[in-house]
Amino acid sequence: MADRRDEHRLVLWDIDHTLIETRGVGKRLYVAAFETATGRDMTDAVEPTGRTELAIFGETLERHGIEPSDELRRQYAAELARQYEEHADELRTVGRALPGARAVLAALAEQAMVVQTVLTGNLRAVAATKLRVFGLDEYVDWAVGAYGEDASERAELVAIGQERAANKYGGNFNRDNTVIIGDTAQDVNAAHEGGARIIAVASGRDTADDLQRAGADTVLPDLLETACVLSSLTDSPEI
Ligand SMILES: [Mg+2]
Repeated sequence: MADRRDEHRLVLWDIDHTLIETRGVGKRLYVAAFETATGRDMTDAVEPTGRTELAIFGETLERHGIEPSDELRRQYAAELARQYEEHADELRTVGRALPGARAVLAALAEQAMVVQTVLTGNLRAVAATKLRVFGLDEYVDWAVGAYGEDASERAELVAIGQERAANKYGGNFNRDNTVIIGDTAQDVNAAHEGGARIIAVASGRDTADDLQRAGADTVLPDLLETACVLSSLTDSPEI
């Protein structure tokens, strides 16, 4: 087997319910941004778990009989980013970083050959606010992440992150040297369809059994045992 110790490995973090929880703040800001962008009351909210911002907004428009347009998407995206900035203090007070998240991020940031970033349905600006508010933003390479405005299907984000990482760090990122860490069956599916391994963390709505059934390579109860998370990452010969 080739010696891969000198090759980069790519770690793609999901954000909501994996690294942080907004505890209801995110839902309120989604409603506020929708109402400001469209001038309409939101009467039928979409279940956002595991989905991308484009998909959530598109379905919300549809449920309200509003014709989608690029202009409307731009207005909504700008308003949502603005709402998160305006309510950053509320997010910090009400929400939380999940136990163990900082320690794992910090430990991985110490590993020279690990490229650590996010793969998230959040807009990039919102993702940045969410992690900054909880002091987690310094550990990830924002330039190579994949975000909610990059594609409407989560699985498509995998190749986007891999390509950005390859452009910056060289080499080739694929299923053998890329791992997603996420909390939902959608994260598991995105890894399978997009070309990555998946460590699932049962810190969100999906139980360990759900995640196992979805086909996660590894399921952890939480991020509390840093050593355990790191050893899950290194279980495969390449990661
Ligand atoms: Mg999540």
